[in-house]
Amino acid sequence: MIHLKSEREIERLRASADLVGRTLGAVASHVAPGVTTAELDLIAETFIRDHQAEPAFKGYKVGDEVFPATLCTSIDDEVVHGIPNDEPLQEGSILSVDCGVLLDGYYGDSAYTFAVGTLSKENRVLMTTTYEALMLGIGQATTGQRIGDIGDAIQRHCEGRGFGVVKDLVGHGIGCDLHEDPQIPNYGRAGSGRKLKTGLTICIEPMINRGSAGVRTEGDGWTVKTADSLSSAHYEHTVVVRPDESEILTTFRYIEEVLKELPYKPIAEVVYG
Ligand code: MG
Ligand code: MG
Repeated sequence: MIHLKSEREIERLRASADLVGRTLGAVASHVAPGVTTAELDLIAETFIRDHQAEPAFKGYKVGDEVFPATLCTSIDDEVVHGIPNDEPLQEGSILSVDCGVLLDGYYGDSAYTFAVGTLSKENRVLMTTTYEALMLGIGQATTGQRIGDIGDAIQRHCEGRGFGVVKDLVGHGIGCDLHEDPQIPNYGRAGSGRKLKTGLTICIEPMINRGSAGVRTEGDGWTVKTADSLSSAHYEHTVVVRPDESEILTTFRYIEEVLKELPYKPIAEVVYG
């Protein structure tokens, strides 16, 4: 069932989304070689609880598995749902940090792929392409467009550059539940699927692989890795469908204020605003 949000509900989602952005900003200033993802996780959890909110992922259940942390931290060939641990981050790695919060009954969800030190050109192109794909997908999330238009824009852009679009995991609606209907795949046919209505709140989150699209889940029950062990990037925003231009509720502003250099080339910002 799809629940379209009132402006009053969107106001509360905006507050949750802003807190996610600020939490990722608090994490961003600590991403560096030698730092552990467990340290980043503690920073995020403390920040969220200090703001009268709860981490959305900690305790999240799928079947018998319970996610144990505040952040999903996915390094290099890890696509999503990596569990923070005590391994120091390595120079040249890419690190996807996905964060969700529950504030005042409403969820916010956003992810950002960070550069740990200096990246290879291949990883930089991957991250730029994934970021652009997110913005192109968001550009399609306007009233009267269809879900397939979002997926088509993302898939066309990434496959056009020879990258693999993960199909086993998808974006989603969001509101009083972290994962609501409808699913938002990062692939599809333009003009197909359900029509987008004003007030629909969704998370658009391309997961893009340098190599093939195939993924597998590790023995920990959570960590999703690329099947060919090549790296993968992931960016996510929570957005509201609006008539002329969708509204992005989450923000990378707090992250990018503390980064010396962006991990991607923000061409799409010129296109999309
Ligand atoms: Mg997320
Ligand atoms: Mg999500």
